[in-house]
Amino acid sequence: MGKSKTIIPKNSTDRLLFTLMAVGIPFAVLWLGCVVMPHYHGDINSTVILHIVAALFILYNIFHNMLLVIRTDASGRTSYLPSVLKPGWRYCAICQVNYPPRSYHCHICDECILKRDHHCKFTGCCIGYHNHRYFLIGILYVFIGALYGICYQWDYVYSTINLPAVYFFMTLLAPHFALLFGAISFWGVLVATLHTLGLVVLLLVLYLLLIQVKAICLGQTQYEMKHNIHDYNLSLYKNFVDVLGRRWKIAWLSPFISSPLKGDGINFLKANEYEPPKDI
Ligand SMILES: [Zn+2]
Ligand SMILES: [Zn+2]
Repeated sequence: MGKSKTIIPKNSTDRLLFTLMAVGIPFAVLWLGCVVMPHYHGDINSTVILHIVAALFILYNIFHNMLLVIRTDASGRTSYLPSVLKPGWRYCAICQVNYPPRSYHCHICDECILKRDHHCKFTGCCIGYHNHRYFLIGILYVFIGALYGICYQWDYVYSTINLPAVYFFMTLLAPHFALLFGAISFWGVLVATLHTLGLVVLLLVLYLLLIQVKAICLGQTQYEMKHNIHDYNLSLYKNFVDVLGRRWKIAWLSPFISSPLKGDGINFLKANEYEPPKDI
């Protein structure tokens, strides 16, 4: 078995970003639930319950996917790695083990990661073959949650700032100027700042998600994308199944739905060795 992992990252930058996420998400939920929601709804009705159920579902997926990203052993220590260096393999002088193609050493995690994608600074660990599914679905739900929150509070923000559209957007960019001109109150500054922060998070997560989806579509890791390596691009379907597992159709509903990966993270079919099924 691999060494036990703590949830809190060891690296100081990672720890800061992890803390921002661990504080930011519950804060956003409390803000939406305790400040924005009472503005729309006077009492608990079916719409309120629907919003709460949706929020709990999104939070459940963010939390457990991120936890499994951290808890899953992405290194090859538990796999059988040969003592003879095979063609295309690489000897890692730090781990003192022969590692298969697509594996790379991470200096922050201090271990080699099978099919290493990248080091995630928010969870403080590497994304590789065995935890890629949880990372991808995790950021998908962070994106859905951020989009949900932004859309949900839009009317509240608009009515709190209470300015014509052009001034509204200017206030989002520079709320302190609107305060100086007496156009909004201190509360308005807070609401505008949080909304802008939410929009920044939304765009950032969208960017991360798009990079991931693009790489997966092309059957590449982030390293292979940077170095223009297209050796493992089989087909769109196979590339996604390689990340999400055999039950990809339902795997995104919960991280606890078992969706075994087809490979072992060590042996990969190359695109030039793969014959797509012929049309009849
Ligand atoms: Zn190594
Ligand atoms: Zn790492």
